[in-house]
Amino acid sequence: METPLPTALGDKTARPLARQLELHTVGDLLRHYPRRYIAHTQVTHSSDREDQRFRDKEHVTLLGTVHSVSGRRMRNRKGHITEATVVIGAQRLTCTFFNQPYRERDLQPGTRALFSGDLSRYKGGWQLAAPEFIVLGAGVSADLPGLIPIYPATRKLRSWVVMMAVRQVLDLLDDPEDPLPEVLRAAHGLATLGDALRRVHLPDTWEEQKAARRRLVWDEAFGLQLAMAGRRAGATSRPAPACPRREDGLAAAFDARLPFALTGAQTTVGESLAEVLAGTEPLNRLLQGDVGSGKTIVALRAMLQVVDSGRQAVLLAPTEVLAAQHARSLRAMLGSLGRAGELPDDPTADPDGHATRVTLLTGSLGARARREALLDAQSGAAGIVVGTHAVIQQGVGFADLGLVVVDEQHRFGVHQRDELRSRPGTTTPHVLVMTATPIPRTVALTLYGDLDTSVLDELPAGRQPIATTAVPAGVKPRWLERAWERVHEEVAAGHQVYVVCPRIGEEGGEPGTEDDEPSRAADDLLDPEADADEEPGPEARPPLAVAEVAPMLAAGPLAGLRLEVLHGRMPTDEKDAVMRAFSEGRVDVLVATTVIEVGVDVPNATMMVILDADRFGVSQLHQLRGRVGRGSASSSCLFVTEALEGSPALTRLERLAATPDGFEVSRLDLEVRDEGDVLGAQQSGRRSGLHMLSVLKHADLVAEARDEAREVVGADPTLARHPGLAGLVRSVVDEASAAFLDRL
Ligand code: ADP
Ligand code: MG
Repeated sequence: METPLPTALGDKTARPLARQLELHTVGDLLRHYPRRYIAHTQVTHSSDREDQRFRDKEHVTLLGTVHSVSGRRMRNRKGHITEATVVIGAQRLTCTFFNQPYRERDLQPGTRALFSGDLSRYKGGWQLAAPEFIVLGAGVSADLPGLIPIYPATRKLRSWVVMMAVRQVLDLLDDPEDPLPEVLRAAHGLATLGDALRRVHLPDTWEEQKAARRRLVWDEAFGLQLAMAGRRAGATSRPAPACPRREDGLAAAFDARLPFALTGAQTTVGESLAEVLAGTEPLNRLLQGDVGSGKTIVALRAMLQVVDSGRQAVLLAPTEVLAAQHARSLRAMLGSLGRAGELPDDPTADPDGHATRVTLLTGSLGARARREALLDAQSGAAGIVVGTHAVIQQGVGFADLGLVVVDEQHRFGVHQRDELRSRPGTTTPHVLVMTATPIPRTVALTLYGDLDTSVLDELPAGRQPIATTAVPAGVKPRWLERAWERVHEEVAAGHQVYVVCPRIGEEGGEPGTEDDEPSRAADDLLDPEADADEEPGPEARPPLAVAEVAPMLAAGPLAGLRLEVLHGRMPTDEKDAVMRAFSEGRVDVLVATTVIEVGVDVPNATMMVILDADRFGVSQLHQLRGRVGRGSASSSCLFVTEALEGSPALTRLERLAATPDGFEVSRLDLEVRDEGDVLGAQQSGRRSGLHMLSVLKHADLVAEARDEAREVVGADPTLARHPGLAGLVRSVVDEASAAFLDRL
C-alpha cells in the first residue's frame, strides 16, 4: 500500500494522478473511492446530481449507445463535422467532432462507449462538443465489471483513466494484511480488507459494492471510536480528586439563595454530576441542552462542590467577550458568595462566612491585573478561574485544580481538553463539556465518543416561546418598516434589541472573518460549501455589514434610540464596555455580528432582528435567537432576508422559524445540508483517513463500532495485543484528522 504509484504504474500514468488528484501511493489510489457506479444503461453526471436533467456547461461522464453517425462538410464554414446521436437511457444527445472524420469509424451505430465532456445546447437538444470517449468491448475495457465505477475526476483526468489505473494496481496487489482479527470480522459480518478494496472499485453487483463499503466505513468508524475509547481510557487512568458534597458549604449556601427553582432536568443532571465529582473516577461528561436551558447554573453548582472541598474549578470560554460575560454572570449569581476578601463588612455576606473568588484571566489584562490573577490561581485564592482557552493554556498554575468546565465546546478540541487534564500530578481533574448547540445523538457519538452525555431537556418555567418570523424584505419592504417600528415599541416598553449582521464591514472584512466569533466547527463540519463540488451561488451583493448598517439605522429608522455596535475587531476593553453598557440597560439597540452568538445573557433583551438571515447557518440562527427569550417577557426574532418567495433559502428560514426546539433544529440542519457526509465534507480536499464515514447515514454502524471499541480498549487499553487495530487507528486518526478533531 505504501508503494509509490510511479513504481506500480510507471511515470506516465502516475504523473497525472499525482498532479490532478494528489494520489501518490498505491494506498492513496485505492482509497480514492468511486463516487458512484453506473450499471450499463444508466446516466451519470460527474457533478453527482441526483436528478437526471442535463445542465448547460456541466461536465459529465455518460455511458451510452450510438444510434446513428454521419459526417459532412459544413455549409457555412470551412471544415468537416461528424455528428453521432447517442442514446442514454431515455435521453439522447449529439456528440460533435470537427475535422476528425475518422471518428465516424469509431462510433458506428450500436457502439457502447463512455463519453466525457461539457454539455451545451445544440439544435434544440443537448450536445457534447468534441467529447473524449472510450469504446467498451475493445481492448482494455473488454472485461468491465458489472458496475462501472465513476471517480471524482477532473476535466484533465477522466474517470476511466482512474479506473484503469486502479485495475492495474489491483491486478498487481497481493491482498493487504487485514487489520481486523477474523473473530471481529465474523462478529460484525464484515468482508476482508482485500475483498472490500477490490469490490469497492470493481463490483459486479450492487450487493458486492454495498458489502465492500460497509467494511470500509466500518474501518473508519471503528478506528475513530478506538481512538476515542483510548482517549477515554487515558483520561480515566489517573484518579480524579474526590470532591465530596458538603451540607454546610458554598454549594448549599448558593442553592439556598437561588431566586428560582431548578428545573427537573437541572436537578437530575446536577445529582448525577455531584455523585461522580464526589468520587475518584474522573468525570468525563458532555452536557447538552438547548439555548437557555440553564447549563451555566448546572456548571456553577458543580464548580461550587469542587470549591467546597478546597479545590479549584476553571471555566474555559471560546472568546474574550464570553469569558468576561461568564465572569460577570457567575459573580452576579454568586453575589457575596463570590466576593471573598473583597468587602470585609459586607452585610449581604453569608453568615457562615462561605465565599470564594471568581478571577478572570484573559489576554487583554494589563500586566498588573494579570499578575494578580495568576497569583489568585496559583495561591488558590480564586476558587473559580474564568478565562479564554488560549490564556489558561499558557502555563497558568493552579493550587489544586479539581474541575475543568469547557463552555461552548466548539473551539476546544479533544487535545486542549486533554492538555489541561494531563498536567503533571497524581490526579487528573474532572471534565465537564457544554455544547452550545444540541446535536443529534448519532453525531454526538461520532464527535464526542469519548464523553458520556447528559441532556437538559427542559426549559425553565415561565419561558415565553420566541415568536420567530421570516421577513422577506425583498418582496415585502413594508414588513421591514414595520420591524423597525416594533423595535421602537420594544424600547418604549423598557426592553432592548439586537440587530445582527453577517459582516463587520469597513477594512474589507469578508463574511466569516469575524475573528472573535467562536469558530462554528460543528457548523463548518456541516457546511455544504465545504464540499468542493458545490459551486457557490452568484452573490448579488456583499452581505450587510455592521459598519454600514449601524449609521444607516441611527440616522434613519432607529433615530433617537441609544445605539451601539459590537464586533470582534474592536479592542477588548471597548467590547467589554459596550457589553457592560448593554447588560446594564444603558444601550437600547446593539448592532452586532455573531460575537453575540453564544453565551451572551441579557434577559431584558426581548427582540432580535437578523439581517441577511439567509447568510447564516441554521444552527447559528438558532443560537443567535437564543439571545432573546431569556427572561419572562415575551420575545421575538425576525429573520430578514431578500430571498424570494418559494426559494429554498426562504423555505429554510420559515421552517426554522416554526421550529423552536434545538434538537429538532439540529436535525433540520443536517437535513437541509442533505449531503449527509458530515465528516467527509470536512475532509474533502485533505488527505486523511476518513473518506466515507457519514454520521447520518452510518449511525447504527457508528454505535456498533463504539461498543466494540470500548470493549476492545477495556481489555487492552494500549492496543498492545492488537497491532492491527493500532495501525487502523493510525490510519484513521492521522495528522490530518487529528487536526480535524482539534477543531471540533
Ligand atoms: P444556556 O443553557 O443557554 O447556557 P444559561 O445558563 O445562560 O443558558 O441560562 C439562561 C438564563 O436562564 C439565565 O439568565 C439563567 O439565570 C436563567 N435560568 C437558569 N436556570 C433557571 C431556572 N431553573 N429558572 C429560571 N431561570 C433560570
Ligand atoms: Mg450558556
